[in-house]
Amino acid sequence: MGPILYLVIPCYNEEAVLPQTAPLFLEKLNTLILSGEISDKSRILFVNDGSRDNTWEIITALSKENPHYAGISLSRNMGHQNALLAGLMEAKSLCDVTVSIDCDGQDDINAVDKMLSEFKKGSDIVYGVRESRKSDTFFKRNSARLFYFLLNRLGVETVFNHADYRLMSSRALEALSKFKEVNIYLRGMAPMVGFKSSTVLYDRKKRVAGKSHYPLSKMLRLALNAVTSLSTRPIHLITAFGFFVMLLSACGIVWSIISYFLSSTVAGWASIVAIICFFGGAQILCIGVIGEYIGKIYMETKNRPRYIISQKTENL
Ligand code: UDP
Ligand code: MG
Repeated sequence: MGPILYLVIPCYNEEAVLPQTAPLFLEKLNTLILSGEISDKSRILFVNDGSRDNTWEIITALSKENPHYAGISLSRNMGHQNALLAGLMEAKSLCDVTVSIDCDGQDDINAVDKMLSEFKKGSDIVYGVRESRKSDTFFKRNSARLFYFLLNRLGVETVFNHADYRLMSSRALEALSKFKEVNIYLRGMAPMVGFKSSTVLYDRKKRVAGKSHYPLSKMLRLALNAVTSLSTRPIHLITAFGFFVMLLSACGIVWSIISYFLSSTVAGWASIVAIICFFGGAQILCIGVIGEYIGKIYMETKNRPRYIISQKTENL
């Protein structure tokens, strides 16, 4: 018999989407079970991330309709990454392998076949990578490109064009559970887990309904979180910048002394103001970045739970 597969699907205010996509997930699961690829104990595990609409009611109704549907509900909205982690950690002891996927139908569910065959060939992590971004808006496409470019430059190892459509074995999840950080960025943490990994290409489609929960502000938050949670390179850059500024100031001092002795001192108001403004700005920026890290340390020392489960469907 094949491995037990859990599809882990975070859902936030998705009442318009779930009734359309849930049957597609079930259809895929049933096909895989019938062909003996996966065990009959496999499940579709929805994680309700504190939705304010009827998402949880839909999930409980689904679980009564078919035992392959299951769900957990978080006590409030904790964000996509935390919801996903909650689902994965719940699934880890119940299955052999998980695939995390968005519930809006954007990720092509058929890629699961290829992911499973990579898993059977010995990969513990299989990254779903978007073949093209045609379905995204011009803005989303290019901001995403900039995002990956900056991340790599800032020392975060990421798989290009991979979001959170990913297969992880229970062994990889067990290792992931040892990462105790509170600020989580799963697609950056998965490569840190190690083990054999591979990638699978798929086409990213348009949302079947509803709208994205990732406006620009959340995307920027995610990017800042990714960098400051996983890399200290910005602090090194600040140190390097500090040295550069010191060097520049030393040149300035030499220059002013020489000017003084050549008695060619002039009323250089504009240049002084420009220099003050520049260094004022640079200092505040650097303090801001350092502050981000101190904020992170503060949050980590609190050791707050990363998610709180309030309810589960009966079949879990
Ligand atoms: N999501 C979540 N909690 C949130 C925001 C989003 O669980 O606070 C879920 C959402 O229901 C979806 C997935 O995360 O299944 C990806 O979100 P979305 O489709 O809005 O993002 P996009 O695809 O536009 O990046
Ligand atoms: Mg989406």
